[in-house]
Amino acid sequence: SERLFGGFRKTSERLGENLSGIVSKTRLDDAQLDDIEDALILSDLGPRAAARIRARLAEERFERGADEQAIKQAVADEIARILRPVAKPLEVTAFPRPQVILVIGVNGSGKTTTIAKLGHLFQEQDYAVMFAAGDTFRAAAIGQLGVWADRLGVPIVKGPEGGDPASIVFDAVKLATDKGTDALIVDTAGRLHNRRELMDELAKIRRVLGRLNPDAPHDVVLVLDATNGQNALQQIEIFKEVAGVTGLVMTKLDGTARGGILVAAAEQYGLPIHAIGVGERIDDLRPFDPDLVARVIA
Ligand code: GDP
Repeated sequence: SERLFGGFRKTSERLGENLSGIVSKTRLDDAQLDDIEDALILSDLGPRAAARIRARLAEERFERGADEQAIKQAVADEIARILRPVAKPLEVTAFPRPQVILVIGVNGSGKTTTIAKLGHLFQEQDYAVMFAAGDTFRAAAIGQLGVWADRLGVPIVKGPEGGDPASIVFDAVKLATDKGTDALIVDTAGRLHNRRELMDELAKIRRVLGRLNPDAPHDVVLVLDATNGQNALQQIEIFKEVAGVTGLVMTKLDGTARGGILVAAAEQYGLPIHAIGVGERIDDLRPFDPDLVARVIA
C-alpha cells in the first residue's frame, strides 16, 4: 500500500503541475489580439492571413505577462503553418525530357535574373539546361538573357526583336529534344498593359508546345517583385487568368520589409512557392524555407 500511495502521490503532483499551469496561463485579450492583427496587416500579410492568425492566437494560452518573444514565437508558428504547404522546390522530373518551364511576370519583376539563377541551380544539380528568348518584344530582354547564357555556358535559342515567340519556342523544344536537354527555360514578354495581346501570345506558345509534347509547358512560373506589396497579389490574379500559373518565385526579398506578402499569397492562392530571390547575384536564389521565412517575418 506504501507503493500504491507513492504512485498516487506522483499522480497528484502531476495534476497539481497541470492545474498550476492553467491558473498561471492566460489568453490574450481583445486589445492585444487587435494590435497583433493590425501589425500583421501592416506587414503585408493581408486581411485573411491576419484574421486566421488572430483566431488561432485567441485559442492559445500564454504565461501570464507573456513577453514579446513568446508572442512573436506563436505568430511565427502560425505563419509557418500557412507557408509549409506551399513550399515546393522546382524539380526536374519530366519524362520525356526536356522539362519546359515557362517563366512569366511583368517587366522589371526580376524574370530574366530568375531564369539565369534557375539555370545555374539546375546546372549545379548536373542538369543540362537551355534558354529560349521568348520575350521578343524588348531587344534588351533578348540581349540580357544572352549575356547570362554566355556567362553560364547555357545554349540559348533566340530570334530577332519582334519575332514570333511561339516559333522560337518551337525551335527550342526541338533542339532541346535533340540535344537531350533536361530543362528548357523560356522567357516570355511581360506586357501587362496589353493583356489581350499577351494572352494571345502565351496561348499560342502553349498551343505550339502542346503539339510537341502534351505535357508541356510542365511549369508556368510567375516571378513577382516583393517590393510591389499588394500589387504583386493582383499580378497573381491576372496571370492566373492569362497564363495558368503553376508556381511562384518571389524576388527582391533582400531589399524590402514586405516579406509578409509571401504569407498573403500563400493564404489567398495556395500556389507552390518554388524559391525566393534575395539579391542580384547568380546564387542569390534561395529555396523557400517556410520556418526560416516565418521567423524573419515575425
Ligand atoms: P525582368 O525585366 O523581369 O527580366 O527583370 P530583371 O531580371 O532584368 O531584373 C530587374 C532588376 O531587378 C535588375 O536590376 C536585377 O538585378 C534586379 N533583381 C532581380 N532579382 C533580384 C533580387 O532578388 N534582389 C534584388 N535586390 N534585385 C533583383
